[in-house]
Amino acid sequence: MAFLTAAGLVSYAFAVTDRYARSREQHDRASGTLAGGVASAFRASQQPVPITFADAQGALLTDIDSNEYVDYAMAFGPILLGHSNEPVRDAVRRQLGHGFGYGASHLLEAELSEAVCRTVPCADLCVFSNSGSEAVHAALRIARAATGRNRVVKFLGHFHGWLDPLAVGNPGRPDGRPTTAGQDPLASESVTVCPWNDLAALEAVLGDDVAAVIMEPIAVNGGCLVSSPGYIDAVRELTRRTGTVLIFDEVITGFRLALGGAQARLGVVPDLAVLGKALGGGMPISGVCGSAAVMAQAASGRVAHVGTYNANPMCAAAAVAVISQLEQGESQLYPQLESAGAAVAQIFSSEAAAHGLPIVVNQIGAAAHAFWSSEPVETYADTLTADSSAYHHFAKALLDEGVHVIPRGLLYVSTAHGEEELARTRESVGRACAVAAESMLGVRG
Ligand code: PMP
Repeated sequence: MAFLTAAGLVSYAFAVTDRYARSREQHDRASGTLAGGVASAFRASQQPVPITFADAQGALLTDIDSNEYVDYAMAFGPILLGHSNEPVRDAVRRQLGHGFGYGASHLLEAELSEAVCRTVPCADLCVFSNSGSEAVHAALRIARAATGRNRVVKFLGHFHGWLDPLAVGNPGRPDGRPTTAGQDPLASESVTVCPWNDLAALEAVLGDDVAAVIMEPIAVNGGCLVSSPGYIDAVRELTRRTGTVLIFDEVITGFRLALGGAQARLGVVPDLAVLGKALGGGMPISGVCGSAAVMAQAASGRVAHVGTYNANPMCAAAAVAVISQLEQGESQLYPQLESAGAAVAQIFSSEAAAHGLPIVVNQIGAAAHAFWSSEPVETYADTLTADSSAYHHFAKALLDEGVHVIPRGLLYVSTAHGEEELARTRESVGRACAVAAESMLGVRG
């Protein structure tokens, strides 16, 4: 290196001390041709740069700079059995030798729909799609066809994907306004955004023009919030009485919070449920399932449920492998997920407290949400008062210490988060808290 110029030495020193050098290069390169340098806008918020990963095994991720992380983003939720889960890999590999897609029927379809109907309480019949957003859209069509009504009620702070009609009143928004530029304002004209966990508010908007009420039965996106005792039962009763289709968006909660999803956990059976994420174990597959009476709209072909990739055999193979592992291991895996979720929540809150940082964590089973707040975060209004930019900075400190999280606060665990990974997490979170506390002192001083 003796022949390096002074400028060269500076950039060499930067390269050896910058643990994200190759991710930065890759992001720069991608930005030349991939709009924004990321494939999903959510990924753009990662600081100091959207990380480029090269490998994922169990609870661990490795980036292209060879940094290793304990992962709590888990691909934004799908990875419930750990990255590169072997039975899923084997199932996909088996299918790989027989074609990637037929655009026609295959043996795994019925195997998958039978598995969904065995495990999800509301499921008599299913249809499959590719993403959660798409399946939500299919559920709305089925509900509208079943009722002959048009209006849909969604809740403030609940997320149902990126498609125009329901991308209003999303998490972090104080009102029912659209989320992004380019959204068709007419598409959400038939959507009423209502406060959640407020029965009177729902009663006030439920008229004989409402086809469906859609909700995240446990509001994971909004902050892992649970409703007051009796609220979900009352919504079930009210929707039944008014002939409104009740849709649970279980894209996150399905399989993650129990084998039968949030509906099994809460003991309330909706008319329709939307599944995604954990269903495919990382492969892109989603679905709508529900009562025979409502799903008859799709079964009869009155609602034409179409899609080139629907129930793609590679994805169906993965999903069958996911459900069969969860069914076989149910009595052991769900308590394991519950305790891993509780452990990570405890690690974040206790390490933060030990360093005088205001972090609170809501957790339910294998999902949690951390907030930068000195007060408990129990309602959607509480979530809006938490300091999201401080948590974003903390997420960067975590990354520096080898813990990968979703900067918005969500934390997901998997069955691969065992004692070793949790012990490692405690050390890393402790170090990140020390750094954050130090920089806060700097700001105050
Ligand atoms: N519904 C819920 C509850 C979700 O959390 C998401 C994604 N985060 C979606 C729907 C949309 O799923 P996808 O990103 O697969 O379209």
